[in-house]
Amino acid sequence: MYDVVIIGSGPAGLSASIYAKRAGLKAVTLEQNPMSGGQVLNTYEVDNYPGLSGIGGFDLGIKFREHADKLACEFKEAVVRTVKKEPEGFTVVTEQEEIKTRTVIAAMGATHAKLNIPGEEEFAGMGVSYCATCDGAFFRGKVTAVIGGGDVAVEDAVFLSRTCEKVYLIHRRNELRAAAVLQKEVMELPNVEILWDMVAERIEGDGQVKALALKNVKTGEKKSLAVDGVFVAVGIIPASDILKDVTECDAKGYLEAGEDCALDTPGLFAAGDVRKKKLRQIVTAVADGANAVTSILEYLQGQTM
Ligand code: NAP
Repeated sequence: MYDVVIIGSGPAGLSASIYAKRAGLKAVTLEQNPMSGGQVLNTYEVDNYPGLSGIGGFDLGIKFREHADKLACEFKEAVVRTVKKEPEGFTVVTEQEEIKTRTVIAAMGATHAKLNIPGEEEFAGMGVSYCATCDGAFFRGKVTAVIGGGDVAVEDAVFLSRTCEKVYLIHRRNELRAAAVLQKEVMELPNVEILWDMVAERIEGDGQVKALALKNVKTGEKKSLAVDGVFVAVGIIPASDILKDVTECDAKGYLEAGEDCALDTPGLFAAGDVRKKKLRQIVTAVADGANAVTSILEYLQGQTM
C-alpha cells in the first residue's frame, strides 16, 4: 500500500515526487512515456522559469527528473486505465497491474486540441502536426502555417521562422492571446506573416499537405494558401478521463480543486494543467505538486488521529 500514487511525470508530477520523497511518504510516480517532463519536453526554449532563463525545454525536463532520481524517487512506466475508490483508499488500475494507495495525485496534464476540420486527420503526420519542435525540421526551407493565437502558437511560429522560408500565423481574432514579449518577438520577424480574423476551413493535399483553405470571419472572404505544413496550436484538453469514476470535472474537463489541490473526493488531489486554474505555466505546475503533497500530509495525519 502506497501513501500516494502520482499519475503523470510532467513538472507537476515530478515536483510532487520530490516533495513526497522529502516528506518521507511511500510514493510512486506513474509515467506513460519513457521520458519524464511532459509538454515541457516539446518546448524549444523556456524563458520564464526563475533562475534558468533561456533553458531548453528538453533540458529542463531532464533536470527535473535528475533531481527526483538524486533523491531516489520511485517511478514506474504504466498506462493508467482507471482509478477506483476503496474503503481504505484507491486502486489505480494500469494496463500492467493494480496498485493500492491511500491517496492519489492526478497530474496527467493535457493533450493537444484539434481543429476538427476536413483534412486534419487525413494529413496527420503528412504535413499536419501538433508539435513544432518535434516536426519542424521536416519543413526546412518550406512554407508552413501555424493556427492559433496563444503562447504555443506564437512560440511555434518563432521556432519555425528559424528554418522555414515563410511562416503564416493564422488567428481567428485581431488580437493575440500570447504573452506580450512573445507577440513583440513574432511581429518583428520578417518571414512571419500574421493573418488576422481568419479560420481554417479545410486542409488540402495529395498524399501530402499542399494548401490551407481559409475564411475571413469578418468579411466572409475565402482564400487558399499554398503551404507544405500546418501546425495546429489551438489549445489543450485536460487528460482527466481516467478519473471519471471517482470525481467530476467542469464542462471543459478540468478537475476543480483550489490552491490546496484537494478534489471533492477525500484523498484525491489534482496538480498541474489538469487542474482548473487561471495560469498554466511550468512554475504554477511545480507549485501545485508541492501544494498537493502538503495537503496529503495533512490529510493522512487527520486519518490517523
Ligand atoms: P491557449 O492559450 O488556450 O490558446 C489557444 C489559441 O487557439 C487561442 O488563441 C484561441 O483563440 C485559438 N483557438 C482555439 N480554438 C480554436 C479553433 N477551433 N480555431 C482557431 N483557433 C482556435 O492554448 P496554448 O497556446 O496551447 O497554451 C496552453 C496553456 O499553456 C496556456 O495557459 C498557456 O499560457 C500555457 N503556456 C505557457 C507558456 C509560457 O509561459 N511560455 C508556453 C506555452 C504554453 P482565441 O484567442 O480567440 O481564444
